[in-house]
Amino acid sequence: MKIGLFGGTFDPVHNAHLFVAEAARVELGLERMIFLPTRGAHYRTPPVANVEDRLSMLRLALAANPAFALDEADLAGDATGYTADLMPRVRARHPHDRLTFVVGGDSLVDSPWQRFDTVLANLDCFAIAPRAQREPQRLDDFLAGLSEAEAEKFVVLDLPALNGSATLVRTQLARGGSIRYLVPDAVERYIARRRLYAGPVHADA
Ligand code: ATP
Repeated sequence: MKIGLFGGTFDPVHNAHLFVAEAARVELGLERMIFLPTRGAHYRTPPVANVEDRLSMLRLALAANPAFALDEADLAGDATGYTADLMPRVRARHPHDRLTFVVGGDSLVDSPWQRFDTVLANLDCFAIAPRAQREPQRLDDFLAGLSEAEAEKFVVLDLPALNGSATLVRTQLARGGSIRYLVPDAVERYIARRRLYAGPVHADA
């Protein structure tokens, strides 16, 4: 089976995540897109919402698409939060599937990836979604720095760059603004019910 993997903090999941995941799935002919929420990345401030709330919002957001699935492997007690540790676990569960990791271009160049060779070794393909970037040249530089064998696994998706981000959602909420149309309705209702993201915003994006 051709499977996509989409990792993130999802703090909260928003419509640009869902668009990128589905558009990548269609463009690459993937049968399933698995969302892999992480407890928190080492290189940035911890997520604002707790794991349970982020998971609940993801479940609500993914429910409408039968091709979307959730894998909680990176939330396990012994998960390190490093993609290099996560990928062998995911690969072990899908030994015969074709695995494609999907990321926004910013994540590729702005995150300090540890043991990227291990990440790549466990994947068949690495797909990059264009994102409005501070320095678009850095993505070109990153791709130019790959070896021939590594470059063969990379594909830049033919998608428009959307500006949506979890930071934008949190910023709107902190200033009492609307998040309607930025997130699915069920996620908007969940956030209102749980009164999430009412405090000051800590932006990494
Ligand atoms: P934050 O604003 O808190 O940094 P985020 O919106 O970037 O969050 P993450 O959960 O950190 O969301 O990202 C998960 C994945 O989704 C990453 O690969 C990220 O690059 C990608 N992504 C998020 N928003 C977009 C977007 N508008 N276009 C393309 N990729 C995106």
